[in-house]
Amino acid sequence: MDVKFQEGWLSSAQRIASPNFDARPAGEAVSLIVLHSISLPPEAFGGPYVAALFTNTLDCSAHPYFAQLIDTRVSTHFFIRRDGGLIQFVSTADRAWHAGKSRWQGRENCNDFSIGIELEGSERQAFAAAQYAALWPLLAALRAHYPVRAIVGHEHVAPGRKTDPGPHFDWIALAKRLSSPDKTPITFPSLP
Ligand SMILES: [Zn+2]
Repeated sequence: MDVKFQEGWLSSAQRIASPNFDARPAGEAVSLIVLHSISLPPEAFGGPYVAALFTNTLDCSAHPYFAQLIDTRVSTHFFIRRDGGLIQFVSTADRAWHAGKSRWQGRENCNDFSIGIELEGSERQAFAAAQYAALWPLLAALRAHYPVRAIVGHEHVAPGRKTDPGPHFDWIALAKRLSSPDKTPITFPSLP
């Protein structure tokens, strides 16, 4: 995949700009990638609702579950659909609002120093092969561009509060992907 960043926007991703972002702290380098899973309504894939949530255009009367999302202001840098389609909502130069109250290796507010990747999915079923096929080159591109030191799940930076991406995410496949000797060692959450 020919991957180019321009001001934090990946050329190979579909761009849908979200208003939900702000500046990273001055001088802050991206050192963490946080993986998530999301589906709206839960377990339903392929609809327009996740993109609507991240752009503050979700009709919260469209489904009973959405009532709890009124006035929610969240975003992610990247969203990978079930078919592997890649959407970018926020420049990686900016701080997306994906991790919330969070901590990694003693540092609070992971949004400050992380990139968020949402996989369309749930904690109850496997992710699609096409999603991994899109995730691997995305991670490689991000690692080539930023001094990434760890790739973790939302559940690892907000334990007790968040459980995504959940037990079906293939951490072992990720570890194998990134363990080639020419690459900088990366920290993972504890593997099963
Ligand atoms: Zn999450």
